Amino acid sequence: MAIATINPATGATEHEFEPHGPEEVERRIALARSGFETLKATTFADRAAWLRRTADLLDAEIATTARLLVVEMGKPIAQAEAEIRKSAKGLRFYADHAEAFLADEPLGDPAAVGASRAWTRYEPLGTVLAVMPWNFPVWQALRFAAPALAAGNTGLLKHASNVPQTALYLDTLFERGGFPPGAFQALLIGSGAVNAVIEDERVHAVTLTGSEPAGRAVAAAAGAQIKKTVLELGGSDPFVVLPSADLDAAVATAVKARTVNNGQSCIAAKRFIVHTDVYDEFAARFAEAVAALVVGDPLDPATEVGPLATEAGRDELAELVDDAVAKGAEVLAGGGAPDRPGWYYTPTVLAGLGDDARIVREEAFGPVATLYRAQDADDAARIANQTTFGLSSSVWTNDADEQDWFIRRLDAGAVFVNGMTVSFPELPFGGVKDSGYGRELAAAGIREFTNLKTVWKA
Ligand code: NAP
Repeated sequence: MAIATINPATGATEHEFEPHGPEEVERRIALARSGFETLKATTFADRAAWLRRTADLLDAEIATTARLLVVEMGKPIAQAEAEIRKSAKGLRFYADHAEAFLADEPLGDPAAVGASRAWTRYEPLGTVLAVMPWNFPVWQALRFAAPALAAGNTGLLKHASNVPQTALYLDTLFERGGFPPGAFQALLIGSGAVNAVIEDERVHAVTLTGSEPAGRAVAAAAGAQIKKTVLELGGSDPFVVLPSADLDAAVATAVKARTVNNGQSCIAAKRFIVHTDVYDEFAARFAEAVAALVVGDPLDPATEVGPLATEAGRDELAELVDDAVAKGAEVLAGGGAPDRPGWYYTPTVLAGLGDDARIVREEAFGPVATLYRAQDADDAARIANQTTFGLSSSVWTNDADEQDWFIRRLDAGAVFVNGMTVSFPELPFGGVKDSGYGRELAAAGIREFTNLKTVWKA
């Protein structure tokens, strides 16, 4: 895949970039290594000040950066601005909390281990390689970088090949915010050049956000080197609606949860599992609202759904829908690509899916919702869990016992009750099953790339 900006709204190639060759990659890894020696000698207060200055830069430059995101991956402009504001918030969150999250933890009863004192301390691991996707090109990278740098690690970003200008913006961002050279750099390399970086002894760990195949490949390469990984992979999140739910709120949120970011979010609700008592009403209202979405130029503030980020992604989504329809699915809204330039796909709702339809098991990465009729709560939980993924989930019921039951029953890294899944710096984020392992954000996220050192003193 070429490293290039190809505008998804037009299909036009706007900029192509030469990948970094082995010498440039070597130079950057060496700088990351020396940068680590500098960074680990700094204080939490130093790093917090630099994180705040970096956040201020993000805020100040929001107009140009948001436009860049739209041109590189096609999200609606208001959502691009929201992503940048959220990223700045993430940086400030770790500026405020990193020191407390990584404070020493003394053992209350050191005599129990024959010591006068015993405690644990968190130390940075070194240089972490971050392999990142294009769908939230600033937020995904900074949700790794903020805690990693706050802890004293240095980061190397291998961004998706279709967002090189965003990668280059991030390449200089932290140094402009005051961090020492080498604290955070981008590597303009294709996926075929990733293993050599993982194998380099100056790289200590890897985090990957992306698809399941990419996760498997990167984790295997890191495993061979006994290097820690965090994997944030795909999802096919259930959105379960039960009879006591507020249907107005459930329908409105369902539309947003499925189509935010043009439907290309790992934590988007993708499968809508509705109790038979409210199924017909939900299906009719949901399909009507999806069909009414404004599809158009992502730079137009009135647009609610823009194009998919890549031509291949649009084609894969179309194949999933065509396969389902060929196997008997009913199309309640959309069902194809509009006749216009760019990689658009009309927001689509499918119902009556056969078990053999691929979309029942595979992640639909675009504005396509599938509806399932559940006979009761047990049936709803069964359908919700019948995927190999386990990222997040959403359940809609006003019955407190039912809420508790679903919180326990859903096989996922998170359960949102009467709301859509959203990532917050304050809450741990990550999945189970084929959605990956490890956590980002909150205290759990900053501790992933640290050495939890045990100290025992006679
Ligand atoms: P992708 O194709 O897996 O790409 C993600 C990153 O991995 C890119 O930088 C890509 O580089 C690289 N990559 C791909 N194959 C690789 C390999 N064999 N070895 C090393 N690196 C490799 O995913 P995407 O299409 O960009 O993103 C969509 C996927 O990401 C969806 O499945 C979505 O659910 C998931 N996602 C998960 C989360 C989460 O937090 N769990 C968040 C966002 C997205 P190139 O671009 O150069 O190929």
